[in-house]
Amino acid sequence: MIKKSMAVLAVLVGSSWIASSWQNDAKSVIATAAKAIGAENLKSIEYSGSGYDFTLGQAPNPSSPWPKFNDKTYTRLIGFEPLGSRMQRVRTQAENPPRGGGQQPVIGEQQQNQVVAPGSPQAATLMDDLMMSVPYGFLRAASAAPDTKVTSKTVGGKKYSVLTFTALNKAPASGYLNNQGILERVETKIDNNVLGDIPFETTFDGYKDFGGVKFPTHIVQKQGGFPVLDLTITDVKPNVPVSIDQGKGGAPAAAPAAATSEKLGDGVYLILGGYGALAVEMTDHIVVVEGPQSDQRADAVIAEAKRLIPNKPIRYVVNTHSHFDHAGGLRAFVAEGATVITQEINKPYYEKIWANPHTLSPDKLAKAPKKPAFKTVGEKMVLTDGTHTIELYHMTNFLHHDGMLLAYLPKEKILLEADAFNPPAQVLTQTPATISPYNQSLAANIERLKLDVQRIIPVHLPADNRKVTMTELMKAIGKG
Ligand SMILES: [Zn+2]
Repeated sequence: MIKKSMAVLAVLVGSSWIASSWQNDAKSVIATAAKAIGAENLKSIEYSGSGYDFTLGQAPNPSSPWPKFNDKTYTRLIGFEPLGSRMQRVRTQAENPPRGGGQQPVIGEQQQNQVVAPGSPQAATLMDDLMMSVPYGFLRAASAAPDTKVTSKTVGGKKYSVLTFTALNKAPASGYLNNQGILERVETKIDNNVLGDIPFETTFDGYKDFGGVKFPTHIVQKQGGFPVLDLTITDVKPNVPVSIDQGKGGAPAAAPAAATSEKLGDGVYLILGGYGALAVEMTDHIVVVEGPQSDQRADAVIAEAKRLIPNKPIRYVVNTHSHFDHAGGLRAFVAEGATVITQEINKPYYEKIWANPHTLSPDKLAKAPKKPAFKTVGEKMVLTDGTHTIELYHMTNFLHHDGMLLAYLPKEKILLEADAFNPPAQVLTQTPATISPYNQSLAANIERLKLDVQRIIPVHLPADNRKVTMTELMKAIGKG
């Protein structure tokens, strides 16, 4: 007690001296750590190897870890002056048959190329990613931050110097340096629009010398408690010439488009301009089917639904499944007062994760908290006011997600589906060389449920917003 109050007194009396002393200590710790890994003159680094990556938010079941991919090759080039990055990898889905992991199963090898060009908008916040990716990235971020402090901490009987500062996203970041000044672990938090503030941690181990620079041979990143990257590094090239341009496949994501719509029938509308959604007019309320992507997209869908069907509240939002690109707008619907209708396995998951704090990037629900209301679907649910009917069915034998709903409008003979058939840009006139098991499952479910489908509405609408029919689905599975 006495010790504590003396410490408080010391802070009160000499706070500015203590702050500057901390910063001086931090500077020397950073300089020692950079020297320990031979990174004092590092302008760029390229490292390569192989391992695994895991797609956050795309688990095949709300209770499973993020789905796993084999990274057969992985190469990342980082330029520090100016800041830029290019990651290239060849990956295959690790589970066979594929489960979860994106809009379509990855069949065979997939090449990925992620570019952050110097001077691009993403380059402005790239340091937050680099500090979690390579040890020197953390030291540079610590050196650039205005509030870096050093403390000591004993973890598992081992003594560490801990560098702590505020990252660009306003979350605290901490790096643990061992007694040789080698960075072993970095911890911070990041915002995820579905999960809220989530822990992000990286471990660096098995340091080896590569051309005068010490670099970890094993890097593991975890987000939200599950691994997202597990790399074994076999080659590192310090100070390689850097030429990173946006090129193909690296273009920044476009801002969400304004919502427009197409009338599908009396009181039934397809909302365009992003992931597709349906707005259906009931006697005294609106039902929206799918609340995907983000607060922004949900706002656009809500505004368009209210414009099309004025003076009625949105009472229900139907959610197809818990993948983050399909669930990213649900919190905005909850803020709007809508009850979420979802397959029963998704409800406990949403209840758990929506209770997480959203302090780093507060969304509408975080700004005006409300307890979410749910209605769950087992195998079937019918929403009707006598004029308009929406039938909801739980898909069976669907590898993409265990809690997937189909929405069928019997009067209009319209079926909305998510990730079961994402038609290509142009009408399919030939059966693809490899048939998607997801497409086969959709056709099998339509047959099992004896649905008379005249138009399929894929939540991932084709680029030309064309009318997708059963003929095209049958072509996709080699039966037409
Ligand atoms: Zn999905």
